[in-house]
Amino acid sequence: MKLKGNLSPDRINEAVTQVLDFSEKNGLNRDGRVRLSVALEEILLEYRERYGESVLFQLVVLNRNGNIHVCLRVWCERLDPLRSGTDILRRVLSRMDDAPTWEYRSGYNQIDFTSAVYSTMLKNLRFSWEYMRGQRQFFLIAVVSQLISVVLSIASPVLSARIIVAYTQSMFDQIILLALSIFAVRFIFNLVLFVANRSYNRVYNKTLSNLEGTLVDAALRITQSSMDENGTGLFIQRLTGDTTRLATGFNTLADMSTSLLNYLGILGAVFIISPPIFAVVLALIIMQGIFERLRNARVNVLDRIYRESNERFTGFVGEMVKGSTDVKVLNSAEAFKTELAARINDANDKRMYMQSKSWAYRLARMELGAFCYLGFMVLLAYLIKGGSLEAVTAIILFNYYSQLDYSAIAALGDFLEFVRDFNLSAERVYEILHGNHFAKEHFGEKKLEVVRGAVEFSHVTFAYKSFDFLREPRDILKDMSLYIPAGKTAALVGLSGSGKSTTINLISRLYDTNRGRIKIDGVDIRELDQDTIRSNIAVVSQKPYLFNVSIRDNLRMIKPDMTEEEMLSVCKKACIHEDIMNMTDGYDTVIGEGGVNLSGGQRQRLAIARAFLLDYKILMLDEATSALDNITQAKIQETLMGIHGEKTIIIIAHRLSTIINADIIFFIEDGRVLNSGTHKELLNKCEKYRLLYEGEG
Ligand code: ADP
Ligand code: MG
Repeated sequence: MKLKGNLSPDRINEAVTQVLDFSEKNGLNRDGRVRLSVALEEILLEYRERYGESVLFQLVVLNRNGNIHVCLRVWCERLDPLRSGTDILRRVLSRMDDAPTWEYRSGYNQIDFTSAVYSTMLKNLRFSWEYMRGQRQFFLIAVVSQLISVVLSIASPVLSARIIVAYTQSMFDQIILLALSIFAVRFIFNLVLFVANRSYNRVYNKTLSNLEGTLVDAALRITQSSMDENGTGLFIQRLTGDTTRLATGFNTLADMSTSLLNYLGILGAVFIISPPIFAVVLALIIMQGIFERLRNARVNVLDRIYRESNERFTGFVGEMVKGSTDVKVLNSAEAFKTELAARINDANDKRMYMQSKSWAYRLARMELGAFCYLGFMVLLAYLIKGGSLEAVTAIILFNYYSQLDYSAIAALGDFLEFVRDFNLSAERVYEILHGNHFAKEHFGEKKLEVVRGAVEFSHVTFAYKSFDFLREPRDILKDMSLYIPAGKTAALVGLSGSGKSTTINLISRLYDTNRGRIKIDGVDIRELDQDTIRSNIAVVSQKPYLFNVSIRDNLRMIKPDMTEEEMLSVCKKACIHEDIMNMTDGYDTVIGEGGVNLSGGQRQRLAIARAFLLDYKILMLDEATSALDNITQAKIQETLMGIHGEKTIIIIAHRLSTIINADIIFFIEDGRVLNSGTHKELLNKCEKYRLLYEGEG
């Protein structure tokens, strides 16, 4: 599409609407469409702000290789909107797959950007082909075997027609010869099919492992922000269903191409026998093909609607299962059931509607096919009667047409359907691997051989990404500065929501600061490599997750080469050993999903034991002992005293009484360090700290 005009509100509006429309028709998803139109609007507004309404612009939007490409020209003085633009624009741009470009040419500014649609078959095939590395020769073997099978199956009708004629005329020698040929064709056909299937199977399995491995790897590298935003449920479907579909993609495609090729072969054979009859057959087939294409297009739209509704239903079921305890104790089962029933009904109605439409189209097409069949049979009869067709040729043609009529159109329908499905899956997998929507963690290159464990924040400002990118995110940490010397024990204190956990998240680089620096041993953590950061920092988070395996295996996941002594030692240090010994299976007790059959306090202590297994230099405990009684708490306190001086310890305490011995306490209020010092110092100089402490009494 192309649009010209000045920067009046009407014109801008029109441009945005048209881009939205165009990108929707070209299959860009909702997110992409919003990004594109918001970016465009912001840029146009930026120019209007600077140079007024009379400035002229030209907008060209086109579909290039399946991607939406936007080219905007604005005739005015040099201005790079990508740099000078609003916060909204910057946020939108940061979420685009390919960074837009700006350029000043003689007299006009040109901005180009591209939004990937990822749904062209060719691109998706190329993408899957990548994952077939090492298996391509087997794929080729399979394709060649299938081609041989095509040739053989085209030969079959000719042979069977001849043998029918030979039978009717009792030509014994010919019958034997033809029978042997038919036997040979079948025998080889079966063998070739076997080879093809075996090779495909191999390709399929290896490609699948390859894809799944890569996808798991990518999923683990996705940034925490992106995880927060997308939720975890989405990965399951993509990891299992979509990868399978992608991996089968090539085989199915090859399979379908073979059968289509087979039909082309038959058409070719018909052409050789009789060009006029070929023309008739072709016309009949095309007529039915058009019908099938119509059905596919209609179902495609209905299927999208159904899938959306179905996702609302499955998502809700997922949440209901996860929250089943709360649903029960809050006695809200009935309300949930009603809501669920409504969603189920909605999804099922939509599916039923889609299917009934699909079947109606199919019925119409099949009845049309029946008429064509009748017509063809009558045509052959007339030709025989008129003497222009021999009986044996009529039988061959009749055989060919029977094959074409029924299955060719169905095969075409399946093929179209498959392409649709395949593209959808490829898109979803591709998004996780390469899409901008799932940002990956990036670490630096620097490796520290020895980490001492000094932590420093200088003027750190941080905001969690807002899910709705049009809304301004709220700063959670505001110009925060603090210094924790190596080997010291520090405590973060403050009201709930003041930003304590966030501080810890930033140190372990789950999120990145917006401004300011965080340093470990004087080195900016953005320069440090993954290993230096993650293997030197042990975190016991507020809500530790334990896996549904035995206690021993939970610990072994952290350190695969853990010895029995190590295991016992860390569990004793974390005061959980005795509890474990009292369980029926001791260390082999399986602890249920998320650790359901442990008490809150046991879960916390096991999480602490797990952290002790790491060879860390910095230990961070986020309200890690909140569920413990005073006696157990004091024991863990002792353990921590034992490592004082060797390790840097950062504690977020639930009860102030547990941190009065810390070397330094930071009192955090609303994302800032309000005051810091030892317990005694703070009691004297920080009124709010004193009140908090006395409040605990
Ligand atoms: P504290 O640990 O001191 O209780 P947090 O650091 O957990 O506080 O949270 C500080 C603020 O950040 C809270 O207002 C909370 O709503 C917000 N917050 C925490 N985690 C996220 C997140 N993943 N995404 C968006 N906002 C968050
Ligand atoms: Mg917290």
